[in-house]
Amino acid sequence: MQLHLLGTGGYHPNEIRHTACLMLPEQGIVLDAGTAFFRVAKRVKNKHLKIFLTHPHWDHIAGLTYLIVPMLNGQIEKITLYANRYTINAIKTHLFAEPTFPHMPDFEIVLLEDCKSPIQIENCNIHWTNLKSHPGGSIGYRIESVQSSFCYISDTAVDGSYTEFIQGTDLLIHECYFLDDMQDWAEKTGHSYKTEVLELARDADVKKLLMTHIDPEQTGDDPLCLKKESHIFPNADTARDLMVIDLP
Ligand SMILES: [Zn+2]
Ligand SMILES: [Zn+2]
Repeated sequence: MQLHLLGTGGYHPNEIRHTACLMLPEQGIVLDAGTAFFRVAKRVKNKHLKIFLTHPHWDHIAGLTYLIVPMLNGQIEKITLYANRYTINAIKTHLFAEPTFPHMPDFEIVLLEDCKSPIQIENCNIHWTNLKSHPGGSIGYRIESVQSSFCYISDTAVDGSYTEFIQGTDLLIHECYFLDDMQDWAEKTGHSYKTEVLELARDADVKKLLMTHIDPEQTGDDPLCLKKESHIFPNADTARDLMVIDLP
């Protein structure tokens, strides 16, 4: 299973990060469709894209408007959108609205509420869970193949409700927008801060942690100062755009 991290920034793009988008090219699976979604078309190996969305904030859906040309030129032949009803309604009402983007691509829509978990795609089983501490909520995903698994958890505070869901995964990709000195802002906005994410990775016994949804104001090599915190959870790193990860 090869995982491409196409967008690892939160809120808005900056010079080094676009907003949320992950891709499994072989399986045609995409997680979130932020501004990094423009990078999907040229990586397509399976022309039926299956797009799983976390929630309808712009930094996770804006890229759905970039699909018209790849569909017209045949790079992408079919798109299935997996999301909850709240997200689908927001996309129909606010993203593909007459004054803002009048043409909605011909999506096949699958409501997660109607799915028997897990959803099977190619050699992957996709599990999902509701994350409740971000405004409007979000969806967490766990993708499992026979040999390995990874979890994608974005736009949530660490609230203890999904520790079991991510337990023992090979790779946890978890949002971390704030450093510890902004803990009050994390609580106000329903995002995570560094120490609570490191402690979660340790408590859930995950093998590796990659922090994503990074504050776009932080543009240095080590935006979360992770090297100083190795005593909590040593196998942690910051996700970077265009990182490619080989999972067994
Ligand atoms: Zn976000
Ligand atoms: Zn959000």
